[in-house]
Amino acid sequence: MKQIYFFSEGNKDMRDLLGGKGANLAEMTRLNLPVPHGFTITTEACHAYQQNSHQLSEALMLEIDHALDRLSASTGKKFNDESNPLLISVRSGAAISMPGMMDTILNIGLNDKSVIALANITGNERFAYDSYRRLLAMFGNVVYGIDEGTFDNVLTETKQAHNYQSDLELTTTDLKNIVTRFKEIYQNNANKVFPQNPKDQLLAAVDSVFASWDNNRARVYRRQNNIPETLGTAVNVQTMVFGNSGEDSGTGVAFTRNPATGEKNLFGEYLLNAQGEDVVSGVRTPAPISTLRESMPEIYNQFAKIAEKLETHYRDMQDLEFTIEHGKLYLLQARAGKRTPAAAVKVAVDLVNEGLIDKETAIKRIKPESISAMLHSEFAHKALERQHILATGLPASPGAASGQVYFTAASAKKAHDEKHQKVVLLRQDTSPEDIEGMVVSEAIVTSRGGMTSHAAVVARGMGSTGVVGAHALQVSYPNKTATVDETVIHEGDWVSVDGTNGNLYLGQLETTDANINDDLATLLEWAKEISHLGVYTNADTPADFQRALEFDADGIGLTRTEHMFFKPERLLQMRRLILAKDAQGRKDPLAKILALQENDFYQIYKLSAGKSVTVRLLDPPLHEFLPHDEKEIKLVAKEINTTVDALKSRIDSLKELNPMLGHRGDRLAVTYPDIYQMQVTAITNAAIRLNQEGYDIKPHIMIPLTNSRSEMKWVRDVVEETIQKILIANDTTLEYQIGNMMEMPRACVTADKIAEVSDFFSFGTNDLTQLTFGYSRDDVGSFMPEYIAQGILPNDPFQTVDTEGVGELMRMAVNRGRGTNAELPIGVCGEVGGDPKSIQFFEKIGISYVSCSPFRIPVARIAAAQAALSNN
Ligand code: ADP
Ligand code: MG
Ligand code: MG
Repeated sequence: MKQIYFFSEGNKDMRDLLGGKGANLAEMTRLNLPVPHGFTITTEACHAYQQNSHQLSEALMLEIDHALDRLSASTGKKFNDESNPLLISVRSGAAISMPGMMDTILNIGLNDKSVIALANITGNERFAYDSYRRLLAMFGNVVYGIDEGTFDNVLTETKQAHNYQSDLELTTTDLKNIVTRFKEIYQNNANKVFPQNPKDQLLAAVDSVFASWDNNRARVYRRQNNIPETLGTAVNVQTMVFGNSGEDSGTGVAFTRNPATGEKNLFGEYLLNAQGEDVVSGVRTPAPISTLRESMPEIYNQFAKIAEKLETHYRDMQDLEFTIEHGKLYLLQARAGKRTPAAAVKVAVDLVNEGLIDKETAIKRIKPESISAMLHSEFAHKALERQHILATGLPASPGAASGQVYFTAASAKKAHDEKHQKVVLLRQDTSPEDIEGMVVSEAIVTSRGGMTSHAAVVARGMGSTGVVGAHALQVSYPNKTATVDETVIHEGDWVSVDGTNGNLYLGQLETTDANINDDLATLLEWAKEISHLGVYTNADTPADFQRALEFDADGIGLTRTEHMFFKPERLLQMRRLILAKDAQGRKDPLAKILALQENDFYQIYKLSAGKSVTVRLLDPPLHEFLPHDEKEIKLVAKEINTTVDALKSRIDSLKELNPMLGHRGDRLAVTYPDIYQMQVTAITNAAIRLNQEGYDIKPHIMIPLTNSRSEMKWVRDVVEETIQKILIANDTTLEYQIGNMMEMPRACVTADKIAEVSDFFSFGTNDLTQLTFGYSRDDVGSFMPEYIAQGILPNDPFQTVDTEGVGELMRMAVNRGRGTNAELPIGVCGEVGGDPKSIQFFEKIGISYVSCSPFRIPVARIAAAQAALSNN
C-alpha cells in the first residue's frame, strides 16, 4: 500500500485520501503555483497506525525515508547539512477541517548544530534562533503536551524585563537565552529532552498528528458535527519557507472576497518579518492586505493574480495562506472560505452572474437555515461585548429586540397604546387570550413551554422575536417580577431578547436592521424555478399575508380562523354564542360575528392577487374562549346578563379532561352546525362580493380533525348546502374546493375513502405527531429533552418529521388518496412544513406544497429547491 504521495502526484479530488489541505497543496502544485515542495502521508496510513496499536509501522518509516531522500533531491537540502539544512513543517489535515486536533509544527530539522548552520548561511543569527525557539515551543506543546502558556510566559518576562513592546525587539542574545530556558522547561515540566535528531523530530510529530485524531476534543467535535470516526487524518510534510527572515519577508492570510459581505475584493492581513501563526495569534497587529500593494507592489500583483486564478479554478471564494521569503511569494494553503449567510448568498449569485457556476450549484451551496438569520435584526456585535447573559431559553423565533417588561397581555398593550412604549411580554406561558398583548410586543418570553408551545408558534407566525422555556426565570404575577438568582426584573424594566440563540440580557442593546436584499431575491427566484414543491404560508391576518407575499409565497396554505375571535368585541360575541342555551340564543351573536368574519375574509381574499387561500374552519375546544378567573367571570356574567353562578356552572359543563382529544374541530360542526354555517357564509359572501368587483376568488375550505369518510361527507354536505343556498339566492356561481386536514392516524389509514369526498388533503403534522406518538405537545418539555439526550429519539418530532412512523402514515395517506384521485393536491401545513430536513422527505413522498410561517418561506424555498435537485 502506497502511504505517501508527493504534492506533484495528487489533486483536489483526493480529499478522502490526502485530506483537504493535502489535496489542495497538490492541486496548487499541479497548477504550477509557487508551493514549497513536500508530500502527504495518507489517511490510510492513519488507519494502519490505529490498527497497529498506535505505532508507526516499519513499512511507513521506510517510506518516509524514501520520501525524505526524494525531497532532498528536489530541493538540494538535507537534514543536518551544514551548508543547506533541510527544514520542514508537519501539518495535519483531515478531509473535513476539525478544530481540536493537533495542527502544525514549523521548523522541524533545527537543532543545536543546524541552528548555527542556518545562522551562517543566512547571515542572520537572530532569525535562526527565532526559528529555533518557535520549534521548541510548538514541539513541546504538541508532542509532550506542555502548556503553551509556559513558553509564552518566558517571552513575556523577557520583554517586560527589557521594556519591549513587540517580539521584534527581542535581540539575538535574548533569543539564545529563551532557547536555553525552553529546554529547561522540557526537563522540568515533562522530564524529557528535545530530540536533536531531525528524523526523530519528524517521526514524533507524525505520531502526534495521528494520535491527535483520537483525543477527546476531536472526538467530541466529530460527534457534535456528525463526522465519521473512520475518516482519519493525513499529515503534510513540507519544506519550510521563512517569512521571518527579514523586512523583505512576511506571512499572511487572505480571502478572495469579503467573507462578511461577499464583496469582490481581496480581503486579508499580513505581517512583515513574521512566521506562521503570528498573524492570527494577535501578538502583533497585522496590516490590511491593501497596504501590501504599496509596500511590495510586485508581490501584491502576483498574489492578486493567483487569487483570481484559484477562485476561477475552484469556482468558489478561497481562503489563502501565503508567505513571502526574501521577496519571493509562496502559497501554503487554499480552501473554500467560511462566510456569513449574507456573504454566502452574494457570492453564490455573483458567481452565477460571472459564469463560474450554474444556478443549481448556487442553490446547493446555501444552508437553508442560515437564510433565516438574514431576515431578522440582530444585536450589534459591539453591543454584545461584555454583556452578561441573564438567562437562556429555547430560541423559538429568531430576531433581536429590546423593550420594557410587562407580565400580562393587558398591561403590555396598555403600555404600548397609551405610553407608546416598546414592550416585551414576559410570562410563564401564553394562551390565545394573550394575543393582543403579543401582537404589540417587540419580543415574547416565557419561562415554560417548548418550541411548539403557543408562545413559540405565535411568535414565529408574527415574525416577532421569541424565547420560550427560560427555566431560570421565576415569574411572579402578584409581585409583577421575574427573578433570576439575585437579579429581579420589575415591570417596566428594559430587557433585550435574542431569539436566534435564546439569550436574555438586562437593558437596551443596539440592533442592526434586517432586509431581503436583491441577491437573496434573485436566489429565491432561481429556487422557485427549480422546485417541485410549492411554498405557501400560514397566515391568520392580512398583515401576515402581506409579509408572506413580500417573501413571494405561492398562496395561503392555512388561515386559522380562531385567532379572529380574540379581539374584545368579538370575544364577547363568541362567549354569548358558546353560552347560549340553544340555536335560538346563538342567532344574534352569530349574526354579529358573521359580519366581522366576512370582512376578515374580504380583506385577505382581496390581497390574494390570484393566489389560492385555504381557510380552516373553527378548530379549538370551545372552553378556550371562556373566562377563567374570578374577576373575568364576574365581568362576563354582567356583559351577557346572567349570574356568576350560572356562568360558572356552564363553564364547568364545558370542561374536559383531555380537551385536545375532546369536543373540537369538526366535532363542533356536528353538534353546533350553525357555527360552521356562519363561517362558510362569511367566506362565500366575501368571495361573491369580490368576484362582483372583478376579482377571481375560488375559496378553499378546510375541515379540521376529520376521522372518516362518513364524517367528512357529513360536514361537507353542511358546507355545500350553505354555499349552494347563498349562490342560488344571489343567482351566481362560485368555484370552490372542500378538503380535509389530514391529522388523525385513522384518517391516514382510510385516506382512499376520504379522498372520495375531499378535494384536497393538508397534513396537520402537529396533531398527527401528537396522536401517533401519544405525546401531548404542550407537555413534552418535561421528558423530550431526556429522550433526545439518551438517543431514544433522534430529534424533536414536532420540529423535524419522524419519517419512520409519522412519515410512514403520511406516505400511506398520499398513496391511498392518490389511488382514488391521481390529481389530489396534498399539502403540509404543520410546524415541520418549514423544516429543511422534513422538506427533503416531503419531496420524496410526493407532497404538492408546504405551508409555513411567513419568515420561514425563504428557508423552505431553498430547501424545496435542494430537495428537487437531490431527487432529480
Ligand atoms: P492550520 O490548519 O491551523 O491553518 P497550517 O498547517 O496551515 O495550520 O499551518 C499554519 C501556518 O503555519 C500556515 O498558515 C503558515 O503560515 C505556516 N506554515 C506551515 N507550513 C509552512 C511552511 N512549509 N513554510 C512556512 N510556513 C509554514
Ligand atoms: Mg492553515
Ligand atoms: Mg390540528
